[in-house]
Amino acid sequence: MRTTCLILPALALTSPLAAQQELADAVRAAITPDRLEVHTRAIVQHERPSGSPGENAAIDYIVSTLRAAGVPVEVYAFRAFASDPVSARVEVVGSDFAPDAITMSFSGSAQALEATLVDAGTLRDLPGLEVGTGERLILTGNRRNQGIRNGADVTGAIVLVEGQPRNVPVAVLAELGAVGIIFMNPEERLNDLIVTSTWGTPSLRNQHRLPTLPVAQIRKSAGEDLRGRLAEGPVRVRLSVVVSTGWKEQRIAVARIPGPTTDAPFVLFGGHIDGWYHGGTDEGASNAAMVELTRAFYQHRHLLRRGLVVAWWPGHSNGRYAGSTWFADHFFGELRNRGIAYVNIDGVGQMGAKRFGAATTSALAPLASRVVSDQTGATIEPTRPGRNSDQSFNGIGLPLLQINHSRLSEDGGYWWWHTPDDTFDKVDFDILKTDTDLYVGALSALLAAPMLPVDLTSEVAALGDIITQRERSAQGQFDLQGAKDRQAALLALAEEIAEKQAGAARPDLDVAVIRTLRPLYRVLYLPSDPFHPDPGMSLGMLPGLAPMIILATEDPSSDRYRFAYTTLIRERNRLIEAIDQAIAEAQLLLAALAPKTEQ
Ligand SMILES: [Zn+2]
Repeated sequence: MRTTCLILPALALTSPLAAQQELADAVRAAITPDRLEVHTRAIVQHERPSGSPGENAAIDYIVSTLRAAGVPVEVYAFRAFASDPVSARVEVVGSDFAPDAITMSFSGSAQALEATLVDAGTLRDLPGLEVGTGERLILTGNRRNQGIRNGADVTGAIVLVEGQPRNVPVAVLAELGAVGIIFMNPEERLNDLIVTSTWGTPSLRNQHRLPTLPVAQIRKSAGEDLRGRLAEGPVRVRLSVVVSTGWKEQRIAVARIPGPTTDAPFVLFGGHIDGWYHGGTDEGASNAAMVELTRAFYQHRHLLRRGLVVAWWPGHSNGRYAGSTWFADHFFGELRNRGIAYVNIDGVGQMGAKRFGAATTSALAPLASRVVSDQTGATIEPTRPGRNSDQSFNGIGLPLLQINHSRLSEDGGYWWWHTPDDTFDKVDFDILKTDTDLYVGALSALLAAPMLPVDLTSEVAALGDIITQRERSAQGQFDLQGAKDRQAALLALAEEIAEKQAGAARPDLDVAVIRTLRPLYRVLYLPSDPFHPDPGMSLGMLPGLAPMIILATEDPSSDRYRFAYTTLIRERNRLIEAIDQAIAEAQLLLAALAPKTEQ
């Protein structure tokens, strides 16, 4: 019997690939270095800590510029739990030594706290952390017994450690009983950073992990001075730290360019609007690129097969991704039902940038490589995303893409990053145009390709590699064969899907492709459940299986081994169920791809 004919968009009946190319060419032609410079100047003139008048002025500029071009933009306001560093003072008791010092977002506070100074060496000398369920952080057992590599007892001490302030060392030193931390920057500079391990505004689940230790940062030379004093004998230091932590109103500007129908799937494209100081390359320049991309894609919206939602995230720094997390929380259903990718932009347009790269989930790695190679001739190997850059959409289950263009270390690297020196003059507008054009390539493919350029096979193959790596880490103590068998079955389905997809134009199947990936992202990137994005630290892929290493290192009769074993039985169940869900979705996708026009 005759079944329903394929319903193809009008574009696909003529020249589908030509439409995608036409879109990319038209958008590139609409964006000039001069236009990018005008927007960058308007944004970067303001200092933009999140929730500040400067950030709000930048948001207002973006909104009015886009509305003047006819683009529909909404602004949402919400309360974020955010932390602005105010001041830090480090003094050696009994001397006049008081070097330049700053504190970090989400540091604890202290008022003239005096304690003995203990040198813990570098970050590499500290024990690591492991995460059980994502709610509680515990020191890895054997490392805890080792303590700090140089044998120092940090109980009751203010600890000097060489390295940039991060959340893991702060949590570790709190667990070991330190009362304060002085980070010695490995360079002669001070970088603003964030030390909480929570992600977005904290909830009842994780608010206990907000740091309470006061944290200061000093330059390398000041750290060396302190080390010199320690070599002579005991040193007492006095630490005063002020932070402004609490509920702050933040605003998110969101532009929505609809697809061919109001309920069409859409790509989410975001970058952070807040910045440290004037934030030239981090990231006023990226914000300007976003304005131009939004304006130009809106102008050529008749060529889109899918919608585009563009968001300028607040709270990236002082709220530890509070804006993107709020958006994921509050638009969860819309993102789950119609979102097909998250494209992040951060730090493009850097003066002297020479190396291209990308951070992507494996499903978007081929697209990123193709776009960079087509436009620049460079060959890149996209890396998997770390736990940063407003990647708040793993629970929703969106593939991710970010293209990078970085400075080489032999040219001094990105030395002004997160410092007052990240000023307007650090932006090169020809480089920014190149970088913006790369985003035009990636977004045009996602918005107008006849078949969504999301590679299921790459993602499933990568899953197989990661399962194998995790299994190896248990050194034969734990069997993941059931998961590996299912991964192999899913890979076969993905390959069959790829064959059937080749040359097909089926935007109606976009969401079905993402539904196949979603259960995988929820195990590949999340240690617990999809609704609570914690923790804000890198645990590696398949983080639920991180305790595999405990089986390789602990006595099988110990409580710790058996607790880890119990955890892993449950995590194996979670993994297998996720792959089974992906298999079920892949089978539906395959059935939908079967030719329907034949008798
Ligand atoms: Zn940034």
